[in-house]
Order: sequence, then structure tokens, then C-alpha cells
Amino acid sequence: MFETLSPELWAETRHNPIVVLNRLGEAGVAAVAEREDFLRVLEEARNATREYQERRPPFFDAHAPLVIGYFSLEFGLAECLPIYSGGLGILAGDHLKASSDLNLPLVGVGLLYRWGFGRQRITAEAQQSEVYVENKAEDLPIRLVEADGGAPLRVTAPIGGESVQIGVWRVQVGRIPLFLLDTDLEENPPHLRTITDRLYVPEPDRRLRQEIVLGIGGMRALKALGIAATVFHMNEGHSMLVGVERIRELRNERQLTFEEARLVARAGIVFTTHTPIAAGSDYFEPGLVWDLLGPYLSQTGLSFERFMDLGREKPGDPRAPLVSTYLALRLSDVSVGVSRLHGAVSRRLWREAWPGIKEAHVPIGSVTNGVHLPTWVSEEIASLLRECVGPDWWELLATDPRWSAIDQIPDERLWATHLKLCESLVGYATDRGGEALEPDALTIAFSRRFTPYKRATLLLQDRERLAKLVRHPDRPVQFVFSGKAHPADSPGKALLHDIVELARTEPRVTFLEDYDIDVARHLVQGADVWLNNPRRFLEASGTSGMKAAANGVLNLSVLDGWWDEAYGPDVGWAIPSGATIDRQATDDQAEAEALYRVLERDLVPAYYQRDAAGIPRRWVAMMRASIRRLAPEYSAGRMVLDYFADAYAPAARRVQQLRLLPDWGG
Ligand SMILES: *Cc1c(COP(=O)(O)O)cnc(C)c1O
Repeated sequence: MFETLSPELWAETRHNPIVVLNRLGEAGVAAVAEREDFLRVLEEARNATREYQERRPPFFDAHAPLVIGYFSLEFGLAECLPIYSGGLGILAGDHLKASSDLNLPLVGVGLLYRWGFGRQRITAEAQQSEVYVENKAEDLPIRLVEADGGAPLRVTAPIGGESVQIGVWRVQVGRIPLFLLDTDLEENPPHLRTITDRLYVPEPDRRLRQEIVLGIGGMRALKALGIAATVFHMNEGHSMLVGVERIRELRNERQLTFEEARLVARAGIVFTTHTPIAAGSDYFEPGLVWDLLGPYLSQTGLSFERFMDLGREKPGDPRAPLVSTYLALRLSDVSVGVSRLHGAVSRRLWREAWPGIKEAHVPIGSVTNGVHLPTWVSEEIASLLRECVGPDWWELLATDPRWSAIDQIPDERLWATHLKLCESLVGYATDRGGEALEPDALTIAFSRRFTPYKRATLLLQDRERLAKLVRHPDRPVQFVFSGKAHPADSPGKALLHDIVELARTEPRVTFLEDYDIDVARHLVQGADVWLNNPRRFLEASGTSGMKAAANGVLNLSVLDGWWDEAYGPDVGWAIPSGATIDRQATDDQAEAEALYRVLERDLVPAYYQRDAAGIPRRWVAMMRASIRRLAPEYSAGRMVLDYFADAYAPAARRVQQLRLLPDWGG
């Protein structure tokens, strides 16, 4: 609808409906509102919205007796709200969207950053530079939350001996509210205003201030809003202080000792760990924790050393740092990793939290990530599925027999639909200043953060062999790369430089600048193959491959993260790796060799093997299997239902049982 309103402004603002409206002004909108084509699209959008709101979601009644507070340092919802960096944020955004679809009573809590995550520019020297664009409140789809009297709502959080004022913004994600906390207020001195400046500040001191605002400020915001959450989900260790503030609340309300309050708080807390390496946690030195949290802890009766010990790998060493993951594990009753393999990695990594317990029995499970299908599946594929599988195809579980109707889509139609999406990617890449892509060549996409373990340059191990693939006269392969390096990640930036250089010299290699939700959407819909070759055990889940799979884009990946459990020769390819959980070192050369071999012997021939009608039958069969088997299984709907069954519902029950104890006085 907004695109119809003004295609030029829509493109120019990179899909920001608020700015489009502001720029058109009242007169401009009034003029468009006379246009037949616009009125038709408006009516369609209105109907779709009404239908969504009035739909009776299949899983939850309107008034389920619990509220889940979901805390995350980033949320990736749409390209016009740049408060995300990558996978973790997109996952949190998809979690909210799927919760809305299911009518799960959940509210999100995050931070509003004044400067989004940097936009990527590539210099003439093939280096990444970052441009920070200011997030102006009036340009964003957010609304200021007001207190009863109409003044802006304020809550406070303790930063050392000071108290920071926090404003609250609301984003409506379907039925789900997301509350964004903001310290950039006139009431705050400059050093507190800048707490919510930027996402993923590297300095521990600034990071801990953000975590105080998110965890302590976020809990207080929910309370001030009258939202009586009973179950709390800490998405990654950044939200660890949710647990501490919950303990404080319970102590105040119930006159409990610290240990009693901790056990009661734990009953309702769910924690998801996302990192597969210890260094992925935040480490906070005791001095820093004392400076920023000491007064708060003493006010609330928690002994500083006891608190530090909860977050130490081995309690008792006064010099040891607080590790966010250990603290979060010890403050929650349900802890999970983000794929089955990552669950196993996490049990090994964090077993010290349960001394004396054998690794296999460490109580860290897994809920495999999923992606929000209506967000990521192209309109073209969705329309085929609506027609054949049903209008509610996107919320059917994998076990639903209606999925078998996908077999009725003729190969010709599925293939033609895919070709149309490939063409649209070609057009998009050209518009974005990428190298001209060829519509008929096999397109392999590699898009993700540039950081050493993801090995963006694995393909470059043997330049001649790569050249043979891309320059093949009859069966050419073209590669599209996209992705950012973290501003502080020099090795990641060096890899990016090599890829940009390759794209500048090799005709069938392209680099698309400034990877974001928009770029991701085009790539996961319009490529033929989605390539992922991380060092095994270092990709906790990965979700971009799920987006691709749901569009019939075939995965070619190391058996890591989600692909370790999803892979089958019916839906894609595995790049063999010698790494095992006990011997995790990888042999780059051997794995590059294996990658070339899969491409040369199986994947490229399968793509170019056409019948008389020009259809690659085996390829199309794999596309169909990929959609049929992987879309429902790796959907955010399935993920949220798993969280409900394995985490939220048991937590709610435990909390309820604890409150029923008679000597609790409440
Ligand atoms: C899905 C997505 C990611 C995460 O993908 P990975 O497979 O985990 O790398 C990162 N960034 C964007 C913009 C995405 O859409």
C-alpha cells in the first residue's frame, strides 16, 4: 500500500511508511486518495488487517492466564526500524510476530537506539566504512508511552550511585506490544543520555549500563505499565538482570530471604543461550560490577560476593569476573540452546554451573530456531501455497496432511515461479549497483556477518578451481555475497575486503552493499542455492538458510546448527567436515576440497540437467521437498509452540504452584 502511495518515496526512504507519509504531507495524501488504483490497494490492506485481527488463532484463547515478558537487546522487525544487527535480532522479531499469530500473551522489551547499527559503505579501496544514521522518533513507527496524567511515562534504573531516567516507546507488532527503553532524555546528564546511543558497544562499562537499563529498567517499565508478567524470557545473557530485579521485587513483596526469592524467581524464568563459545558471553570485572551495581545490590539486600558468585564459572574466587551466561543459567529454571547440536555444545560449555553432574545430564535443552514464514516467503511462492495447500498454509504444522497437496503444483509452475523470483533478484542487484547478474546462470548466495568462523573466503582456497566454476561456458555459476563486519572486527573486515576485491575482478561474483532485512529478503527468495560454510560447532543455529529453504532455495551447508538436524539428500547438500564435538579443529583445505567436489560433481550438474521442456526435474523435486518438509518445521510458529510447551507453560505452572502456598500471605 505504501509503495502504491509513492513508489519513488518508498524506494528513497528504504521502505519507511512514516517518512513517506510525512513527506507527502496532508495535501499529498489527499491527492493520492483520489486515485482508483490506490483506493483498491488500500481496501485490500484494510481487509487483510481486519481479517488478521478478527481471525481466531488456532492455539490460544484471548485470555490465557499468564503474561510472558520477552527481553532482548535487539529486535529486527522491519528495515525502517534499525534497532537490530543480525540473526539474534531477527530471531527476536520473528518470535514476536509468531506470538502475535498464535495469540500468545507476550510482551517484548528492548532498547531504542539513537543511532542504528551502522550502515555499510564500501570505499574505493574495497574497505568497509560505517555510516550511522540518526533514528529520529518522528520517523519511526513508535509511539511515546504516557503515564496516567498524560505526561510521558518515566521509570528509573540505578547506575552506580545515580539514577537514570528512562522513557518508554511502544511498537505494535500485530497483537504484541514491544516496549523500547530510551535514556536520551533532557532530564538525564549527558553521560546517562548516551546509554542507549548504539547497539553492541564493545566497552564492558557501556555494555553493563545498557544491560541495567534493559533488565532492571525493563522490569520496572512493565510494572509501571500495569503488566503483571509472571514468566520472563531472557533472550541471550544480555537480559541477565531481569532475574536480579525479579528477586528484588519478590523480596519486597513477600519478605523473603535472598535464596528463597531466587528460587521463586527462577521458577518463572526462561533463558536462551545463543553463543557456542565461552568468549561470546559478556565478562564483567568485579570492580566494574561494584561501581555500577554495588549500591543497588546493597539496597536490595543481596550480598555482593554472593551475587558475583552466581555469575562466576567457579564461585569463590573474588577476582574472577561475572559471566553473563553463568548468571543467566543460575537465575533460570529452563535453559535452552538454539538447535539440537547447540544444546550439546552448551551442555559441554557451561557444565561448571552444575558441578558433579555428567555432561550428558546438564539441564540445558534446546529449542531450534525458526523463521516467520509470512515475513520471509515471497508473495509468489506464498500465492502458490495459498492456492494448493490452503489460505492458512503458513501456520500448518509439519504433520498436517494438507501439506501433501503441494505435490499438485506442477513442476512447470513451481519452476516458472522460481525463475521469476531469480529475475527479480537480478533487477534488484542491478538497482543496488551490484555487478550485472545473469538471469540464467546458477546463482549461489553467501550472505551473513563477516567474521572469521563463517569463512566467507573458503571458496577462494583454490582460485583456479573457483574460476573454472564461474567461467564455465555452458554451466556457469555466479556468486552473490553480502554482509557486514562488526565495526570492531578487523579480521572480519579483512575477509570482506578480499571478497569485494574478488567481486571487482571476477565477472560472475557480486557483492551487495549494506546487508539488511530488505537485501536478505531478496536473496533468500531469488537465489538458487544458499551457501553456509562455517567452522563446525560455531554456528549455533543460523536462520537465513531456513528462510531460503522455505522459498525452495536449496541449502548447501556444513552440518552445523539447524542444518545438522534438517539435512537430508532430498532437500539439499552437506559439506562434510571432520570436526567432532571432541575434536573441533577444522581443516579448511579439506573442507574447501569437499565443497568444490559437491559443486562440480552433483550440484551444478543437477541444476543444468534439463528435460525437453527445459525443466531440471530433480532440482524441482528438491525445491518442493525443501518447502514441504522444512518450511513448517523451521517456522517461528513451531518454535514459539515449542517454547510454550517446554518452557512457558511449565514455568507458569511452577509459579502458580508457588503462589498457592498458604504461608505466602498472598
Ligand atoms: C536472517 C538474517 C540474519 C541471520 O542469518 P544467519 O543465517 O544466522 O547468518 C542476519 N541478518 C539478516 C539481515 C537476516 O535477515
